Amino acid sequence: MSAPLDVAVVGAGPAGLATAYALARQGRTVRVLEAAGAVGGRMRTVREHGCLIDTGAEMFPSRAGYPATWKLIADLGLDRDPAAVPNVRDALAVWRDGRARPNAGRPLGLLTGAGLSLRARADLMRLRRRLARLGDLDPDRPERAGIAEETVADLVRPYHPDVYDYLVQPLVSGFFGWDPARSAAAPFAAHLAASGGSHTWHTYRDGMDTLARALADRLDVATDHPVTRVAADGDAVRVESPRGTLIARAVVLAVPAPVAAGLYDEPRPAARLFLAACGYTPMLRVSLVLDAPPEPARASFATLIPAAADPLLNVVTRDHRKHPGRAPRGRALISLIPSPRGCRELFGAPDRTVAERLIARAGRFVPGLDAAGPSHVRVHRFRHGLPEATPRALRLRGAFADRPVAAVEYAGDWVPLRPCSEGAVASADLAAERVRAHLSACARRPAVPAGEEKG
Ligand SMILES: Cc1cc2nc3c(=O)[nH]c(=O)nc-3n(C[C@H](O)[C@H](O)[C@H](O)COP(=O)(O)OP(=O)(O)OC[C@H]3O[C@@H](n4cnc5c(N)ncnc54)[C@H](O)[C@@H]3O)c2cc1C
Repeated sequence: MSAPLDVAVVGAGPAGLATAYALARQGRTVRVLEAAGAVGGRMRTVREHGCLIDTGAEMFPSRAGYPATWKLIADLGLDRDPAAVPNVRDALAVWRDGRARPNAGRPLGLLTGAGLSLRARADLMRLRRRLARLGDLDPDRPERAGIAEETVADLVRPYHPDVYDYLVQPLVSGFFGWDPARSAAAPFAAHLAASGGSHTWHTYRDGMDTLARALADRLDVATDHPVTRVAADGDAVRVESPRGTLIARAVVLAVPAPVAAGLYDEPRPAARLFLAACGYTPMLRVSLVLDAPPEPARASFATLIPAAADPLLNVVTRDHRKHPGRAPRGRALISLIPSPRGCRELFGAPDRTVAERLIARAGRFVPGLDAAGPSHVRVHRFRHGLPEATPRALRLRGAFADRPVAAVEYAGDWVPLRPCSEGAVASADLAAERVRAHLSACARRPAVPAGEEKG
């Protein structure tokens, strides 16, 4: 019989770890159960071939854009050394007419062009003014925005076509895996308005899993512990796994919505409907280590490739330019991210085919890449890459947010329909507060035998 367990958290991505941390600070006993061999989820970093390879998330904006993340960074003391959370310089370019145009997505780009014609830049300012006037763009409650029924494509249709072709389309497809004609405008606009420009981007010097590792160090985390079923039984919840069954007073499912829906038969209709509407787009990334940088020229960290320039390749990142510590001196670390169409075509292909096809296409955008030949290749696949945030999901979100508290709660980027790590971290405080309310309501009832593990 192990010590009584208040809460089991399923998933050691940023949402699960931040939830567990908030619950532990409330004085609860918490255990985090993670299917993978390491923490971080889609924010995991692997260390191989002398490099720090960020497999999923790669950067985040400043405090104003990601307040929940930066609060956690400060609580954990991760920013005591400012060099540990450096700014990414020359963060974003867009490819147009045979070359990369720097300063995309930042105010300076309005002067230098950043791939946009003069009229398009004037229209971009008009669009920004319109979003500022909306006033109801809240990244935590995107369903309340006046543009809740519009898709991303609807939102930018009235403006110069360059705004779509050379900024919005490559941005939302490349970074969110979204089809702009399917995904809702409100979460995108709220995220953009909150996050500010690409000049505010930061990274963790020691890898994007820094926050996850720091949280896990302070928590009880079981890795290689896949959960297969969760069932509520009175005031107790059974959490089943090939590693054994665990009983807790409450459970937080901090896994992508389709995974959560498969683990737990949700009885609350509003929650069930929202879970079913929360689809995810897949994401694919090929990371290449090169023994020498293929191009002598100075280049931005990330270059967006519009669909007009290449229908399959969407983003090229030079990770060695994100922060010098990502690759040993003299080597290069480059990532290739396919477009949603490229992802659909390549997702099931063998690693070698994926790498060969993307490298062949990337040669145009990274001169010398195909000739240099990588000394190491890693392909990362995320079946649940990012929450797709359709207008239907947005319509169902309000009722989900207002559901009564229960023994099984949720955390994750899909909860606010915000396709980024801030959405995941911000969902954690909410989940912890809901668990607190549930456990307080149960407090006067007799205690259940909890924390028992059966073989
Ligand atoms: C390619 C890519 C690039 C991205 N770039 C950025 C970026 O630059 N900036 C940014 O802010 N965000 C970015 N994101 C988004 C960010 O990574 C996610 O929003 C964030 O990781 C979501 O956190 P989460 O905890 O909700 O889910 P996850 O990170 O997915 O964590 C869920 C965890 O649950 C575990 N799990 C799943 N099923 C089970 C089970 N049955 N039992 C136990 N454990 C289970 C998983 O292994 C995982 O560790 C990117 C995502 C991808 C895919």
